[in-house]
Amino acid sequence: MALATTSSHAFSSCLHPRRRHRGRRNVAVSPRSEVQRREEMEIVIVGAGVAGLATAASLRRLGVGATVLEQGASLRAGGTSLTLFKNGWRVLDAIGVADELRAKHLRVQGMKMRSASPAAGGVLREFSFEEEAPGQEVRAVERRALLEALASRLPPGAISFSSKLRRVVGQQGPDGATELELEDGRRIVAKVVVGCDGVNSPIARWMGFSEPRYVGHMAFRGLARYDGAGDGGGQPFEAKVNYIYGRGMRAGFVPVSATRVYWFICFNRQSPGPKITDPAALKREALELVRGWPEDLLAVMRDTPDDAVVRTPLVDRWLWPGLAPPASRGGVVLAGDAWHPMTPNLGQGACCALEDAVVLARRLAAAAAAGGDAASSYGEAMRAYERERWGRVFPLTARAGLVGALVQWGNPAVCAARDGVVIPRLVRLGPFLEHTNFDCGLLEPPPAAAAPSP
Ligand SMILES: Cc1cc2nc3c(=O)[nH]c(=O)nc-3n(C[C@H](O)[C@H](O)[C@H](O)COP(=O)(O)OP(=O)(O)OC[C@H]3O[C@@H](n4cnc5c(N)ncnc54)[C@H](O)[C@@H]3O)c2cc1C
Repeated sequence: MALATTSSHAFSSCLHPRRRHRGRRNVAVSPRSEVQRREEMEIVIVGAGVAGLATAASLRRLGVGATVLEQGASLRAGGTSLTLFKNGWRVLDAIGVADELRAKHLRVQGMKMRSASPAAGGVLREFSFEEEAPGQEVRAVERRALLEALASRLPPGAISFSSKLRRVVGQQGPDGATELELEDGRRIVAKVVVGCDGVNSPIARWMGFSEPRYVGHMAFRGLARYDGAGDGGGQPFEAKVNYIYGRGMRAGFVPVSATRVYWFICFNRQSPGPKITDPAALKREALELVRGWPEDLLAVMRDTPDDAVVRTPLVDRWLWPGLAPPASRGGVVLAGDAWHPMTPNLGQGACCALEDAVVLARRLAAAAAAGGDAASSYGEAMRAYERERWGRVFPLTARAGLVGALVQWGNPAVCAARDGVVIPRLVRLGPFLEHTNFDCGLLEPPPAAAAPSP
């Protein structure tokens, strides 16, 4: 699926026919060498993760084409799963991929909060989403399946794989187009660049954002498989999140599909330490951390192939007003983790990346329809997107960070109060999930625009 370096077909073919006149032109700016050839594009999205693919799919639904540059040679096949709440499902409905994902993933019915300590007697509290948060939709979705579903909405060649952004060269010309340089030497000039390049975004760095802050916790994640026929096959658990609290550490697991169970451990650690690349060593370390914890958790972890275990330092970046740079600079704008990395304590990072995609696509499509140029209409669209999204993503990032700090406390008295009073008597699921009420609305294709040509 890699986009040919110099072919003009891939980009122009993903524009709506009526808008093809704004497609890319190949411009040889220098006769000296192959690597200095520049491609001109209207909208370039850097990163084929959740935010990048959802933005491209939303734009396409609105009749606007974009090229997605992805550093990997293919969509990320690994990864575990993401828990998506109803705000995320609304976005997937708007894009038109929700039902195919619903068909493959179990609807989570509720939550069991448990203690890691046998002395505390197991279950602290059990919730049903239907009773405590009616209308909530929770499913853990395999990341691979989510990316594939979003990518399936794009025309062939819209994703340019093995296209790693090396740097933003700068902005130029009266319309403020942005020049990008890729690792392979290609140069691309685009009116709009959407930085969806994740938590370590080179584009955010170029825009003056600080590095994400390590919050002092790490996470292990894994995806257990129950593929076999007979006793070893099929989903062994009821469709509930199992949340297990220890001191300075928590873990959990949730059924994903008929044959997959996702699990995680969050633990305190002063610094992330060296990266471990041996998957078997990672799994051993994870099992060692929760030695003596409930047997069902340990069994799920043992049923996980070594290469389906990952360890990640948890980071965030708070978008303090007046201190954080704007979300856009000229014709460049950020979405998803590249803009607002948040800790996973509310399960909202990907949900917010999806929300960003719809809001941004709507703004960019309107600017494109108005004859978009980077300096004015696209620039204003990006600022309007930031105004619409900042009040949503900044408080969520902060709240996720605070929740993480609270639940990771290792103090024995605090943990006893949590297990004895807070969880059994005070926690209310409905108010806690208030933030999932966000409704991104529909993505209405422009009336005259029939389905874009493939
Ligand atoms: C432990 C953990 C658990 C989580 N659980 C949940 C959850 O349950 N629910 C939830 O909603 N969220 C969850 N999240 C958050 C979620 O994973 C992220 O918010 C989401 O993946 C962000 O999507 P993104 O597209 O912004 O970034 P990514 O998914 O990271 O995608 C970035 C893409 O950009 C590409 N890229 C990077 N640099 C370049 C470059 N230079 N050139 C070209 N391409 C590049 C990458 O290869 C990648 O494909 C969790 C996060 C963690 C760490």
